[in-house]
Amino acid sequence: MIGLRSTKNTTEDFSEILKQWPIGRVRDFIGRRTSAEAGAAIESLGRTPVDLAALVSPAASGLLEPMAQRSAGLTRRRFGNILQFYAPLYVSNYCRNFCRYCGFNRGADVRRRALTVDEAMADAEYLSSEGFRHILLVSGEDPSRVPPEYFENLITLLCDRFASISIEIYPLDRDGYLRLVDAGADGLTLYQETYDPLVYTRMHPAGPKKDFRSRLRAIECGAAAGMQSLGIGALLGLSSWREEAFYIGMHALYLQRRYWRSHVSVSFPRMRRAAGGIAPQRSVDDSALVQMICALRLILPDAGLVLSTRESARLRDNLLPIGITRLSAASVTEPGGYVGGRRSGTQFEVQDKRSLREMADAVKERGFDPVLKDWDAAYRYDQGVSPQ
Ligand code: SF4
Repeated sequence: MIGLRSTKNTTEDFSEILKQWPIGRVRDFIGRRTSAEAGAAIESLGRTPVDLAALVSPAASGLLEPMAQRSAGLTRRRFGNILQFYAPLYVSNYCRNFCRYCGFNRGADVRRRALTVDEAMADAEYLSSEGFRHILLVSGEDPSRVPPEYFENLITLLCDRFASISIEIYPLDRDGYLRLVDAGADGLTLYQETYDPLVYTRMHPAGPKKDFRSRLRAIECGAAAGMQSLGIGALLGLSSWREEAFYIGMHALYLQRRYWRSHVSVSFPRMRRAAGGIAPQRSVDDSALVQMICALRLILPDAGLVLSTRESARLRDNLLPIGITRLSAASVTEPGGYVGGRRSGTQFEVQDKRSLREMADAVKERGFDPVLKDWDAAYRYDQGVSPQ
């Protein structure tokens, strides 16, 4: 039996650093930053807490143009013109948690479904035939429906078809992640949702996810188990985006330093009202999203920055040049939705509904190279993949 989450794998973690940065201190720290400090941070590419706070501060809001230019230049220097595509594969929407913002929460009136390994493979084969080589397995947090052994079997089978297999499932302990790494998983995505402990408690009233610190530690269990890629983020709209951006930057810097063998990515999921879920609590408009993406690129030149199909096609196209390196495409957010039609509930409504071919064309029109596999021999969309 693969171990579920325990708290005994590491002796210290990012929560120790968070203790030095309570939310009130962070709010005040950001509020005191000046436009001179923001300008200096754009020029120097420093990575201190002052630089980070200055870049996400109201004082930097008037410097979006130079921030975007610097961010775009830095991204092209580090990543070239490449934009990498992946697809999520939802395998179950059963969940033991009560996240107030999510349409899959335990109390939500939604059709539930957990795919068998064969059903999941049917969706995976569809995605493979479309040309995807990076896949993200997603499930609600109910190990009784899709136990760790299920993922171990599925990942083993997927290795033949996919160059990269990431997971976004319930937290495991180090040994649990190790078994999945051994099976072939190389990426772990685990959003903290919000770094504000009080908001976290309000949003997660019951279920295993209620434990803020346990969730925060899980990504480090994955890193310790050898996950090559670590994806973090906050659900934007639960709390003030400026403070969330500060904490995400601090968390990413910490992970990069401590788990230097892993590659860290940051996602920018903006909250959408889900059936049975609450409305966004705090506004995150487009200019806030731009500032956040640029700030994190300037602080984290090597990090992957990920944008999902939660955002509209127009906005995604406009954000491409400033720092994004990874995009989901043609996503379906319900289990079995790729080949089985709509038989269960979706987690959120997809805004950008373009096919992989349409996305690749849009990306190429803007001068970027769409890439479906980014190591070994690079596998380009326009070098042999023929989406149906
Ligand atoms: S956000 Fe994740 S853990 Fe929370 S209810 Fe939705 S599926 Fe479950």
